[in-house]
Amino acid sequence: MHDPTRSNDTKIVAVVNQKGGVGKTTTTINLAAALVAEGLRVLIIDLDPQGNASTGLGIDAAARELTTYELLLEEIALGDVIQKTQTEGLMIVPATVDLSSADIELMANEKRSFLLHDALRQPLMDDYDFDFILIDCPPSLNLLTVNAMVAAHSVLVPLQSEFFALEGLSQLMLSIREVRQSANPNLRIEGVVLTMFDSRNNLSQQVENDARENLGEIVFRTKIPRNVRVSEAPSFAMPVLDYDPASKGAQAYRDLAREVIEKNPKILA
Ligand code: ADP
Ligand code: MG
Repeated sequence: MHDPTRSNDTKIVAVVNQKGGVGKTTTTINLAAALVAEGLRVLIIDLDPQGNASTGLGIDAAARELTTYELLLEEIALGDVIQKTQTEGLMIVPATVDLSSADIELMANEKRSFLLHDALRQPLMDDYDFDFILIDCPPSLNLLTVNAMVAAHSVLVPLQSEFFALEGLSQLMLSIREVRQSANPNLRIEGVVLTMFDSRNNLSQQVENDARENLGEIVFRTKIPRNVRVSEAPSFAMPVLDYDPASKGAQAYRDLAREVIEKNPKILA
């Protein structure tokens, strides 16, 4: 069984942005795959009722009997809801549309903000000794996302390199502050990553300049380029690292993984 003294070695990162279509799911899947390629064990929690991370990793709807919903609301053990993906070393707790009612059902629960936190701290078998748990959040600052921020050690924010990208970030920062003031004082910001970056587009460059000027150090050096291979990979049910390892997108996610590891020296120690 899992040695509880080692449980602190698992780094839990919530991938959050209340805007849809900014690259949360893409970043969750591909950062996870890139961390696995570095020899780490990674679990993805699909916390979005749209279940895009589950679909993108080839978990058929028929194979989603035990999901994040059962983990949160029916107290099914974490070990029982984890599934393998086709990428060796990468596992997932899938989601279905059932999760869309969880937000409201959670309201009645007095531990409503802590359900994911408690679920992720259950003892696990040794082969589930994860180095990272990445939580793919819904496009909202609802109770599901609050659960992710309460459960996590840090928040990773994908920022789409487009107009209005920085708008909404202050609301997100406020939510992080609220969680820090209540349920999770140690919540850190892992970083902000520019996604769908187009170097030929002045606007992308402008968003980068604004982000680096306003947010400073927390913006990752690595930018994820807009790359068609990245958007094709989910329809082949695999991370871009497996679909086209030589693509610019795959290379960028490998760089991002190395930066994340650099920021977490304890993980590889
Ligand atoms: P979110 O989870 O924030 O809603 P997604 O990760 O699903 O966002 O991305 C939204 C859309 O943008 C998807 O169709 C995805 O394939 C596409 N996309 C994301 N990142 C890239 C990229 N680097 N290059 C090209 N397309 C991308
Ligand atoms: Mg998504």
